[in-house]
Amino acid sequence: MSASSGGWQGAPIRIAVVGSGPAGMYTAEALLKGQKQRCDVDVIERLPTPFGLVRSGVAPDHQKIKGVTKVLTKIAKMKGFRFLGNVEVGVDLAIQELRDNYHAVVLAVGCESDRSLGVPGEDALGSYPAVSFVGWYNGHPDHRDLKVPPETTRAAIVGVGDVATDLTRIALTDRDALARTDIAEHALEILRKSPVHEVLIFGRRGPEHMKLAIRELRAIDALDGVQVAVDAEEVAAAQARVESPSTATQKKLEYLAELAARPLAEGVRVARFMFLRSPKRLITEGERLVGVEVERNRMSSDSRPTGTGEFERFDVQWLFRAIGYRGVPLEGVPFDDAWGTIPNNDGRVCERRDGPPVPGLYVAGWIKRGPTGVIGTNRADAVVTVSKILADLDGGIIDVDAPKKGCEEILKERGVRVVGFDDWERIDRAELERGKRSGKVREKFVDVKAMLEALDEA
Ligand code: FAD
Ligand code: NAP
Repeated sequence: MSASSGGWQGAPIRIAVVGSGPAGMYTAEALLKGQKQRCDVDVIERLPTPFGLVRSGVAPDHQKIKGVTKVLTKIAKMKGFRFLGNVEVGVDLAIQELRDNYHAVVLAVGCESDRSLGVPGEDALGSYPAVSFVGWYNGHPDHRDLKVPPETTRAAIVGVGDVATDLTRIALTDRDALARTDIAEHALEILRKSPVHEVLIFGRRGPEHMKLAIRELRAIDALDGVQVAVDAEEVAAAQARVESPSTATQKKLEYLAELAARPLAEGVRVARFMFLRSPKRLITEGERLVGVEVERNRMSSDSRPTGTGEFERFDVQWLFRAIGYRGVPLEGVPFDDAWGTIPNNDGRVCERRDGPPVPGLYVAGWIKRGPTGVIGTNRADAVVTVSKILADLDGGIIDVDAPKKGCEEILKERGVRVVGFDDWERIDRAELERGKRSGKVREKFVDVKAMLEALDEA
């Protein structure tokens, strides 16, 4: 039975979506688009600002990508859509309250935590998971107080995915160029005092397993005064190792070989890729990071890195772990600790991996499938989740006859200050105006209090 022909057609369906990142917004779009019955979608977001990692993950020098907010804003203007910002599920509202007051609940809370390497010294001043450092330069309220020491000249990054490329660009980009973006002012100040001339990017496996997109590698090399360096022998060994590379791998290896063949120009800042190396110890003086010890690896026949017992030491003052994000458990919701996600079957939350579904509870985006995929990936992913909700409405698994009143009353009783989408648009305008005054694309408010004060003043 299709959504439009089901017996529930005409009944007002009330759905809560938790999280307003791409997954939450695309879920709302799929729910609201083309349905003939009335559907009310409340998108509940813990921050007063919508769009998740589009605001707090996408790098400040990638303003074109942030243009997707226009598409997401159109979704927010669809009939039946409501934004309930500044409302944290698990703090202001319990999951059970959502389940009692909505026909279905979709969790699209992303992956807001990190993974550790499990090596000594990881908590040194100067060593950060990407989630914190990225959140810090992007003005996420959770990370604005991160202590980042200045006067850094050399940084290390662990992991060779796209997040590693963002961190490399931010560390090496000319500070005056960064000053025109929407980078948080506190981060710009520290970066200005940190003349980073080299970034070492460590991959635990060979270049043939590099996850980053080739366009992102090109973007580093295209930076003014910056050059990518890589060892020609490492690239040649990788080319010899892979028998039938995919087109993407072949192109990456060819590009790396081209980069390896170029002598370094005088005075350039360098992004140096160093493969088959795993950090084993972070070296500190007092609390401050001063270096990293890495073990050389060899590739085993099943593509795993195996330590060789040969160690190297590099002096670095910052080290970023770009080895993947991780979901945060929500009280009252099953959690798969090994994967760092909510166990589910194509979007239907399950009590455990391969366990029975929890009726009326769904997931979308990174918390559903793990921290991989670009913004657009979440659209197709949301459509799959919504198809399961529609099937459960058709199949009577969701009781459409039970009236549901949403969470407005509870929030009112608790005195929670809800930020609507029009409020967000006022914050947005205030940030753009502040940016204009300082020659930047935008000057973000970096704490919730300042956002709410801006609303009171407007
Ligand atoms: P998120 O975007 O993380 O959204 C989750 C939302 O849930 C957040 O707004 C959060 O505040 C909210 N939330 C969490 N917990 C609660 C709660 N308890 N109650 C209420 N709300 C809650 N992709 C690209 O295409 N281009 C890029 O340039 C790009 N750059 C990236 C840079 C970085 C550093 C990272 C990490 C990712 C990047 N991506 C990029 C990938 C893209 O950002 C993700 O695919 C996408 O954001 C995942 O969407 P999501 O909605 O699942 O999670
Ligand atoms: P990712 O692409 O999965 O890369 C993670 C990297 O960390 C891999 O190189 C991985 O190596 C390595 N790693 C994992 N565990 C490790 C360990 N214990 N020790 C050493 N290395 C380890 O993840 P990501 O870079 O966080 O990106 C997440 C998603 O966001 C991706 O889908 C990405 O495309 C997207 N994104 C896109 C953009 C963009 O479009 N511009 C920007 C940022 C992010 P192995 O391969 O050996 O596991």
